[in-house]
Amino acid sequence: MEYQRTVAERVCFEGEGIFTGQEIRVEICPLRENEGIVFERADLPGKPRIKLSPEVVYGLDGAVLISDGDITITLIEHLLSALHGLAIDNALIRVYGEEIPLLDGSAFPIVRKIQEKGYLYLPALRKRYRLKRPFEMINGVGKIQFFPANQLKIFAKINFDHPIIGEQSYAFTMSQIEYLREISFARTFGFKTLLEERRQKGILKGGSLSNAIVIDEKGVLNEEGLRTPDEFVRHKILDIIGDLYCLGKGLIAEVQAEASGHKLHIDAIKTLYRGGYLEEVETRALTFFWVKMRKRVNR
Ligand SMILES: [Zn+2]
Repeated sequence: MEYQRTVAERVCFEGEGIFTGQEIRVEICPLRENEGIVFERADLPGKPRIKLSPEVVYGLDGAVLISDGDITITLIEHLLSALHGLAIDNALIRVYGEEIPLLDGSAFPIVRKIQEKGYLYLPALRKRYRLKRPFEMINGVGKIQFFPANQLKIFAKINFDHPIIGEQSYAFTMSQIEYLREISFARTFGFKTLLEERRQKGILKGGSLSNAIVIDEKGVLNEEGLRTPDEFVRHKILDIIGDLYCLGKGLIAEVQAEASGHKLHIDAIKTLYRGGYLEEVETRALTFFWVKMRKRVNR
């Protein structure tokens, strides 16, 4: 049986917001069982809150945001990836600004801070969504498919016509150890020309080589190079893990993504949520389900 958990005590981090250029503080605070992931704009009067659900998230080209129409917090995906990867069911995310700092472009700095403080187990069983039937969504060249399974498995494939990226694929089965070891450190990347263009237009006010892998036509501009040769596709897995958590709970399904991005991921989970594809299960019920299935097969 798996019990719900939250952070054992408040976890704090801060960094520059790439959109606003401001130094932004974030606090991940403990919450009780069944409260889910709740965001708070701690910098605004009255400290308004939004509970994470597919109804209030939006996938953009390079980011995911949460908004209820009144307040917005952008770039939530890597933080959500860390919470999903470390199986944090309940937490209050206090944000002193309108975006989550990009930090080093991966989930690792957040993961490390959460691990330092530890976890608190709560007196309720973990709930997840189990996929009932297959689903697929296509958006231009991007494609994402979902199949029923007994645990979360993610297969991702990317293809960039670039000497150091090319075609990369990665198969991941959700476990905290695999997430920590193989995925959490993978950084996001950007093309130098595109970043400069966005900075000139004023879309980006912050951001540097310390927030992402930056590449030009020939190679990587960061002095330290890549953390693994396939860091790009590992980051795609990291992003998918974060985007799936916008369901508000973990998903039990096999996910196959090809040339996919945040917008497609978020549109897909909204359809799963609204279209009756999901069934909420407690971990205990799920175990019974699979034992029953296995018995039937063995007979
Ligand atoms: Zn990302």
